Amino acid sequence: MGLSVALYIVPTPIGNLEDLSSRAITVLKQVSLIACEDTRHSGKLLSHFSIETKKMALHDHNERDRAQGIIQKLSNGESVALISDAGTPLISDPGYHLVSQVRAAGFDVSPLPGPCAAITALSASGLPSDRFSFEGFLPSKEKGRVDKLTALKEDPRTLIFYESPHRILHSLTSISAVFGDERQVVMAREVTKVFETFLSGTVAEVLAKVSQDSNQQKGEIVLMCHGFRQVKIEGDEQAIPAKVMQTLTLLNEELPLKKAAAITAEIYGLKKNALYKHGLASGL
Ligand code: SAM
Repeated sequence: MGLSVALYIVPTPIGNLEDLSSRAITVLKQVSLIACEDTRHSGKLLSHFSIETKKMALHDHNERDRAQGIIQKLSNGESVALISDAGTPLISDPGYHLVSQVRAAGFDVSPLPGPCAAITALSASGLPSDRFSFEGFLPSKEKGRVDKLTALKEDPRTLIFYESPHRILHSLTSISAVFGDERQVVMAREVTKVFETFLSGTVAEVLAKVSQDSNQQKGEIVLMCHGFRQVKIEGDEQAIPAKVMQTLTLLNEELPLKKAAAITAEIYGLKKNALYKHGLASGL
């Protein structure tokens, strides 16, 4: 059966060629044009599956211009597929302008389900998956990174970041500085590939493992952080982690309780007034 006329959004494998679905292969064979982020890169995948469809480069720099040509093809009754180098197009990849222009021109855009590093990593992370926020790449400059993390610090949802291997130590260091050492993180590396690795623990533990093992600073990485958890402290002494009380007590040896509570609250992401009241109630 022929395809109905549409722009097809086709996810491609993020490491394991067997993850290209049979429907994806059929669509890629039947469309009259495949818009690729990089024709040379995708050429290898396409020839592996004997897909001989004509290719066209569509990347961040020419996407708006190429959209008109693709709309022309759709109006001639021809279907087009969009793929990126790996995973789902538009997810930290080109395609947004194309899809919005094709929809605005009144043509169908039809998505195929398939590989996406963020969702694949989340599904095996052990972190809460009922609510999450995909944040793409953290800024490369420290100030931008810290500003972005500060805005996310109290977000209760699981946070998902894409990360490049040469920036992973910087990002973990910034996360530790802004979210505190105790935040749970999971680093998923080379997912679906030979060296697939999941490292989990507090950000301090994961940072130590990654610093000590240069192999952990290689390949493709999804970094996930547990969402912010408000520690209940008022009227419930058991709910305060011993570490928090230890820090508060130590700081209080040198500083007034108010100041000690403010610093401790900053370190652990707690409310300073509640911690101060708790300190008073504990006899500090
Ligand atoms: N559109 C793609 C998707 O759906 O996942 C993402 C494209 S983005 C330009 C590339 C980033 O995705 C990498 O830097 C890495 O953070 C993540 N990524 C891609 N493949 C991965 C893999 N096999 N394991 C872990 N992370 C991966």
